[in-house]
Amino acid sequence: NALPSVRELWLMTRQFADRPYLVYGNERISYAQAHEAVDAVAAWLAAQGVVAGDRVAVAMRNYPEWMLIYWACVSSGIAVVGMNAWWMTEEMAYALADSAPKILFLDAERLARVNDRPAMAEGIMLVTVRVDSAVVPAGAAQVTPWSEVVARGGSMPDVMVDPDADACIFYTSGTTGNPKGAQLTHRGCISNLFSMMYAGASSALATQRATGVEPPAAPAIPVTLIATPLFHVTANNCGAYVTTAAGGTLVLTYRWDAGEALRLIAREKVTSMSGVPVMARELISHPEFETTDTSSLVSLGGGGAQVPPDLVLKIERQVATARPGTGYGMTETCGIITSIGGDFFVDRPDSCGPAMPCLEAKCVDDDGDTVPLGQVGELWVKGSAVIKGYINRPEATAASITDGWLHTGDIARMDGDGFIYIVDRKKDMVLRGGENVYCAEVEATVYRLEGIAECCVFGVPDERLGEEVGVAVVLKPGVSLSEAELTAHCAGLMAKYKVPRYVWFMDEALPRNASGKFLKRELRDRLSPEVAAA
Ligand code: ATP
Ligand code: MG
Repeated sequence: NALPSVRELWLMTRQFADRPYLVYGNERISYAQAHEAVDAVAAWLAAQGVVAGDRVAVAMRNYPEWMLIYWACVSSGIAVVGMNAWWMTEEMAYALADSAPKILFLDAERLARVNDRPAMAEGIMLVTVRVDSAVVPAGAAQVTPWSEVVARGGSMPDVMVDPDADACIFYTSGTTGNPKGAQLTHRGCISNLFSMMYAGASSALATQRATGVEPPAAPAIPVTLIATPLFHVTANNCGAYVTTAAGGTLVLTYRWDAGEALRLIAREKVTSMSGVPVMARELISHPEFETTDTSSLVSLGGGGAQVPPDLVLKIERQVATARPGTGYGMTETCGIITSIGGDFFVDRPDSCGPAMPCLEAKCVDDDGDTVPLGQVGELWVKGSAVIKGYINRPEATAASITDGWLHTGDIARMDGDGFIYIVDRKKDMVLRGGENVYCAEVEATVYRLEGIAECCVFGVPDERLGEEVGVAVVLKPGVSLSEAELTAHCAGLMAKYKVPRYVWFMDEALPRNASGKFLKRELRDRLSPEVAAA
């Protein structure tokens, strides 16, 4: 067992003793306190007969308990099932049946959903977190409040954890279809931690500014604002792992709110934010941004979706200390595939960086053959970070992984220096009369207009062409822009077939999923019928 399991990572953090680990509102938990609680939870799990190879589900907001449960389970060889906190009754029932956990840790809101259909908890032991007086679902095997679990104390059981065992089951975001339960192994999670550390080092190298302006010294101890849910790799495997391994602090919040994020950045001296690009955009365009002390930030950008090139350059211009940075990755690789930051990013704002050293990458055609350098194809990656598969879905697993090569479903090209450019998702591409229109390219063009708060491009069914290009736009307050002005702007910058045929100006923010990504399918399904009816 050359590679350590996640257990060794967690045990190693005992040395950080009294350093602050978790911050939530006015609550502060040190590493020593976290270890005491994690040991107690692990001992309690063992006492319940839950052992290595079993599963334990977590259904709650980003409370500190989320991380404590996580480390207790993975250190014991128990796989954590990250339940999406946005799931309603139906979806929760599906995931519980799919993953069959022995224990379910849940907060009040999730408990109410289980109570809507108590049968879903049949035979499962429940642990309530931050619940005052629980209404107990009829079928539950037993209900224990969190306070009782930690009150007993105890020590971490001595177990051997197989690096190829599942550390957790995380469901994909469900951006293109139903979420699938991906099996992230200990080896995969540790590989991603190495990638994150490598990414940090390489972007620190790239902070050298050509202008001669002194780059800010990268702080040795990170303070990370976790702006996305802990049941996804962005917050967990990327944000939380790399921060924990370095003895840093995780600043958790109940929900995303740009104003609150700014206050926390100033109060906690946050060094980086683990979020999606739209959050970085909201942050720098917030009215309080200019008057907030954000000088602790060393990088800004986010991952999980394309950082539009205009945002890369805005961060570079408007944020004094932080350099733009991003990572491209997915649940199926336990986190990042590529990363880019600093000068590298400013010079190539449309790239997401080179593949991490522990992953091989290639762009292939429909037959799986590598395309010539510089041409677009589906990106395939191979390496220890690739998941074992999707639980209970052998066909989906077989369709996604060929000889260890994971089909990312993303269309990309690679340049001679190994930098990768994500062009679009295979499923998101608009097929307009035989021409491929890449949504990300059209979105980047629309964002070049001043006054755009959000935009999202998608295909609208069309009898003649198959699909037409549609765009939903949210303008910044007080901005007026006509459809003709928008299309004229696009027509001046791109081929005619890419120019949006339909433009919707929306009054409210575009719908997003739990990870903060735009729900393209929902928008398309809601707006397209208007065209058919017209
Ligand atoms: P599902 O697979 O259920 O449809 P999903 O693909 O959104 O959902 P995730 O694993 O959370 O689920 O997201 C991975 C995807 O997010 C990638 O395949 C890619 O399309 C997109 N993505 C992530 N980071 C970036 C980035 N930096 N640039 C462009 N796209 C990105
Ligand atoms: Mg996906």
